Amino acid sequence: MTTTLPEAFVERLSRIVPREQFESIIRTFDEPKQVTFRVNTLKSTAESLESELQAAEIPYERVGWLEGVYRISPADKLALTQTDAFYGGRLYIQNLASMVAPMILAPKPEETVLDLAAAPGGKTLMLAGMMQNTGWLSAVELSRERFFRLRDNLENQGVTNAHTYMTDGRSVGKKCPEMFDRILLDAPCSSEARFKTHDPKSMSFWTIHKVKETSKLQRRLLLSAFDALKPGGKLLYCTCSFSPEENESPLQHLLERHGEHLKTLPLSLPFDNVQKPLQRWGKEIFDERIQNGVRILPTDTIDGFFICLLEKTV
Ligand code: SAM
Repeated sequence: MTTTLPEAFVERLSRIVPREQFESIIRTFDEPKQVTFRVNTLKSTAESLESELQAAEIPYERVGWLEGVYRISPADKLALTQTDAFYGGRLYIQNLASMVAPMILAPKPEETVLDLAAAPGGKTLMLAGMMQNTGWLSAVELSRERFFRLRDNLENQGVTNAHTYMTDGRSVGKKCPEMFDRILLDAPCSSEARFKTHDPKSMSFWTIHKVKETSKLQRRLLLSAFDALKPGGKLLYCTCSFSPEENESPLQHLLERHGEHLKTLPLSLPFDNVQKPLQRWGKEIFDERIQNGVRILPTDTIDGFFICLLEKTV
């Protein structure tokens, strides 16, 4: 069964993305995406995983810009999920957009890192791999059901440096002031970039009201993340939504409150389907610093995404 995208969503998207790319972006919601996955460096290596894929006769292509990351056709996904490598947690299926966030936050071994909205844990796993299972990785999740999925994923993938907390991320800043070197806030959002016309459920909850409500939660989570960040620490804010209310606006709110202690860092991504954040939306005019963020535009391989990297000044 297929359905059409919500009319109001399409109209708003036409005002957000570049006009000349609008039609091709709309088509990405209809088409199956290529399947991408990465080696779990806590359990295997790129070389060893490639041998396993060859033995299982799964044709793969390397994604050139990230070591140990591969793409296969959607037709081979079932076979991939039946391999020992999949069951043994030596690979993790993840959209490329989701890999970009940990790649940019770039935690180092022995650092203190917080993932403030963590389940099901795809990005937490990658952070743990980059930290080589050292240091301290706090993973916070509010939803009970999703929290246990997060725990299972961490266990299956051999993560030992993560400490999981079933709690509200909005309270973490006050409980753990200036504690973390790096914080990832992959905020709960309206998931617009995950809409699929062959999966009506993916968009059944979307309304403009929901977008605005989610924006309020994102603002409070961002303020909490700011409080929990050490001076000199880095905070990566991202969502899989296109809406400025969920991207530029929460950042604007944070900069209005704590702008004198924050700078944004320019990002350079290894592909060109990107767009600068908006300078204004409706009556809102956004702080110039937000221009350092990036809106990733969806293709047949990568989902839409929004990312902004901030640093708390000393
Ligand atoms: N980072 C995850 C990953 O890569 O697998 C995806 C995170 S998802 C975008 C956002 C998560 O935030 C959801 O699991 C949701 O249940 C959780 N969440 C919602 N409200 C929250 C809150 N107040 N505090 C902490 N987590 C929250």
